[in-house]
Amino acid sequence: MESPGDPPSLAVRERDAPAVGPGDVLVRVAAAGLCGHDAAIMRGVLRRGVRPGVVLGHEVSGRVVEVGGEAASIRVGDAVVSTLTVFCGSCDRCLSGNDYGCPYGRGVGHGIDGGFAELVALAESSVVRVPDDFDLYHACLLSCPIGVSIRAARDVARVRSGETVVVTGAGGGLGAHAALAAAAAGARVLPVTTSDHKAALLERLGMEPILAGEIPFSEMVMALTEDLGADAALDTVGSATFGQSLRSLAQGGRMTLMGEVLGERAKISPAEIMFRQAAIFGSTGASKRHTADALEMARSGSLPPVVARRFALEEAGEAYALMRAGKLFGRALLIP
Ligand SMILES: [Zn+2]
Ligand SMILES: [Zn+2]
Repeated sequence: MESPGDPPSLAVRERDAPAVGPGDVLVRVAAAGLCGHDAAIMRGVLRRGVRPGVVLGHEVSGRVVEVGGEAASIRVGDAVVSTLTVFCGSCDRCLSGNDYGCPYGRGVGHGIDGGFAELVALAESSVVRVPDDFDLYHACLLSCPIGVSIRAARDVARVRSGETVVVTGAGGGLGAHAALAAAAAGARVLPVTTSDHKAALLERLGMEPILAGEIPFSEMVMALTEDLGADAALDTVGSATFGQSLRSLAQGGRMTLMGEVLGERAKISPAEIMFRQAAIFGSTGASKRHTADALEMARSGSLPPVVARRFALEEAGEAYALMRAGKLFGRALLIP
């Protein structure tokens, strides 16, 4: 990314191969997912901690082509997926399995160069091995958005079997996987989308889509739940849907904010939280254990990766525009 904007200034450039430190591995990238996080950096909504001229992309799969002298667990030829950050591995949070929360962590494709490239250097601890029979083009989605969705639905929202869960932005890359994560937990899923086409695809996944339009989706949720409301809401849109997500909740309902597309303010009445006795959580990122769970669930078919389309690296601007316009169901992949 040369400079943020809408559209952003993106360019494909020849660079020297990244330096491989003693604890690093060099990955030849097979595919990299284009995330809302990348789009927020491209638009300039997200600037904090972004390295100037950064190579974006934190959803990276590929094969290891070189290992540093101290890297012992990963070998040349291994198929891997990146974690979302490079972390210290020795602090309390890392040791308790919450490596995403490492205070010394640096975001891949944010604070350090990421995977919208032919080659990326990552710490050995920041890649997870993927079995050879697993599709490498799908593997890039295991940490984000799949691991991220598992964390939000299972660990933060604590979705249980038989509950009703509303998911906003459900046709997008994060939303589609969040809806699948809720379904995998045994919930009745009401995915909200603005597109007929995406609604049909969500219905085919066994969900009961709500087409957002003139009628607030919160009213549709009430109509579909005999006026009880939903047990949980997974909101991947943010300010634009926050109020309606809250108003979709049943008594004691839990709302989890997973994304913020516009970077604006939400207008809510705090009393709506109180009278519903609702809880509001925020969830972002995923740790290595979520990536491992994502691999297991993707292999068993309980949480399949949803790929919208593959784009060449040179088509990143087009992929961004289609994503911004809401034209893609699932994740766009960049293939160097
Ligand atoms: Zn992501
Ligand atoms: Zn740490």
